[in-house]
Amino acid sequence: MRRPLRIIMLGPPGSGKGTRAHIISELYGIPVITTGDMLREAVAKGTEYGKTAGGYMSRGELVPDEIVNGVVGERLGRSDLENGFILDGFPRSTPQAEFLDDFLEEHGLKLDYVIHVTLEDEAIVKRLSNRRSCPNCGEVYHLVSKPPKKEGVCDRCGSELILRGDDRPEVIRNRLAVYREKTQPLLDRYMKKGLIKEVPGDYSMDRLSEQLKRMLG
Ligand SMILES: [Zn+2]
Repeated sequence: MRRPLRIIMLGPPGSGKGTRAHIISELYGIPVITTGDMLREAVAKGTEYGKTAGGYMSRGELVPDEIVNGVVGERLGRSDLENGFILDGFPRSTPQAEFLDDFLEEHGLKLDYVIHVTLEDEAIVKRLSNRRSCPNCGEVYHLVSKPPKKEGVCDRCGSELILRGDDRPEVIRNRLAVYREKTQPLLDRYMKKGLIKEVPGDYSMDRLSEQLKRMLG
């Protein structure tokens, strides 16, 4: 049995962070845990923190750090993570990162890697602005990698495809600027600890698996 692997994924929206998390998950047999999944599960189970989080979510408000931390603590304390975990979407702020450090230390666990998925802003803009969505059934297409059979029309339901507001170049550039400003303190923090591993967001799948195996052992 290999030693446990505990990994944090960092990377801008559209960088391919989620895909990379799932490749690592398959290579090493450890689960990807996202903040969204943890929150939804805690709410559904009615855990202590889940009840409070649910209130914020039903009002469409951002769940405060201390509640998110509570939910994460409940999740990371469960026994199915003895082989490790890949956190995607957590931590997102310095208070969240401090909580995670304390939690791991209290439980005698250590973080192995922080995988930073890198891709230039313009490449992300190109990637995301090529997305087309079906307003009727929710199917998502990509003009280069997953085009609809008939231009501008949904394969599944025949509705006309749209470019969502979130996927417009100027909106993407703004989201990326906000992301970079919020994430820089986390990158600095983990850089100091020597945990950062850079993974390019535009490698082919084969090249990516090779790099990950070399990096993670
Ligand atoms: Zn459709």
